[in-house]
Amino acid sequence: MSFVFVLDTNKRPLNPIHPGRARLLLTQQKAAVFRRFPFTIILNDAQPANSPTPLRVKIDPGSKTTGMAVVNDATGEVVWAAEVTHRGQQVKEALDSRRATRRGRRQRHTRYRQPRFANRTRPQGWLPPSLVSRVQNVLTWVERLRRCAPITDLSFELVRFDMQLIEHPAITGIAYQQGTLAGWEVREYLLLKWGYRCAYCRKEATRWEVDHIIPRSRGGSHRVKNLALSCHACNQDKGDRTAAEYGHPEVQTEAGKPLKDAAAVNSTRWVLYERLQQTGMPVETGTGGRTKWNRTQRELPKTHWLDAACVGASTPSSLRTRGVIPLVITASGRHRRQMRKVDTYGFPVGKAKGPGTVLGWHTGDMVRAIVPKTSKKAGTYVGRVAIKSDGNFKITGAFGMVEGIPARYCHPLHRNDGYGYSHGKEAALPPSAWKAGASAPNFL
Ligand SMILES: [Zn+2]
Repeated sequence: MSFVFVLDTNKRPLNPIHPGRARLLLTQQKAAVFRRFPFTIILNDAQPANSPTPLRVKIDPGSKTTGMAVVNDATGEVVWAAEVTHRGQQVKEALDSRRATRRGRRQRHTRYRQPRFANRTRPQGWLPPSLVSRVQNVLTWVERLRRCAPITDLSFELVRFDMQLIEHPAITGIAYQQGTLAGWEVREYLLLKWGYRCAYCRKEATRWEVDHIIPRSRGGSHRVKNLALSCHACNQDKGDRTAAEYGHPEVQTEAGKPLKDAAAVNSTRWVLYERLQQTGMPVETGTGGRTKWNRTQRELPKTHWLDAACVGASTPSSLRTRGVIPLVITASGRHRRQMRKVDTYGFPVGKAKGPGTVLGWHTGDMVRAIVPKTSKKAGTYVGRVAIKSDGNFKITGAFGMVEGIPARYCHPLHRNDGYGYSHGKEAALPPSAWKAGASAPNFL
């Protein structure tokens, strides 16, 4: 169930409550809406001070989308979930186009900005702007959640797999590890190592098998150096031949090489890990192998937020995920700094950038516009507003897009905070998930 966050009169976070109870408090005017995204209410009357149940924020970082889940470790309840879509590629494209425009103008001896040469050294720990944006998105949301829920711990998927666990001498048999944590780590390693392709026919398979390059029957070991990713057909065809006898000596050589650092160690994740530690909360780290293993054990489908809920060793044995509707958060930036749009040749087109606010509204504010029946555009529209200096706005939402809505019909829902919001779909859970922890239907 996606719960509602609650603050006391002094803006201290309390235990999140069921949406039905929140609705009751709101209708009885015992509370007021404090924030729409994430939905948070603030109590009107002072409450007796009792310490709320500690919650854990779990993060599964991705290059395009990061899954987040707030989990109650004691009950296994997923209290809240979100999927944050980053704007990494947009940041890169914007910088590329700016660079191209400036270069073009310099080449043509048009009026231009002088190139600067004092800013060419990169400080230590420099990250590309697109990655900085990703790191900041996650940190922003951890901070926001901390302000509206009693968060005490963090879990974070730091690496794809655990090299130590894979190469540890105590782990002897992959054959006996099917369905174990170590087995999943090895599988993750092999998938990445062989690029999700069969080592022999180089095709993508629907069913992967772990192939012993020198077969077990001929004294081959279970070490990862003797393992290759294979499709079912190739594995059968190879039989008890070695890779060289099967006509693929390169597989033997390739398996011996260590995995390229770039693929195994992700710099963004490490930077994020360091920053998360700076919040002062204990940060538990997990591996991709463990996340997958946790999720498979609990028969949960693959979504970003469910992956997040399964990060780390602290994951409760039964996760209550019923009725959780993830908040879909899209990083959009606050505004454009470019004063003028340019055509492909770098010449200005259209009008210069207008004012940042019109009648108190910013582009990106979430509004509910109620247009009366007398107007041609009668109806109620909920979405993001794009301001125009004449006071007739454009609104984009789940309904589509509508233009020319006068500002006087707009009611504020949420100020532009650099993100767009919508509600995701409930995950299609297997029947087994419905047995555990029956909860009431969603009211919001
Ligand atoms: Zn194959």
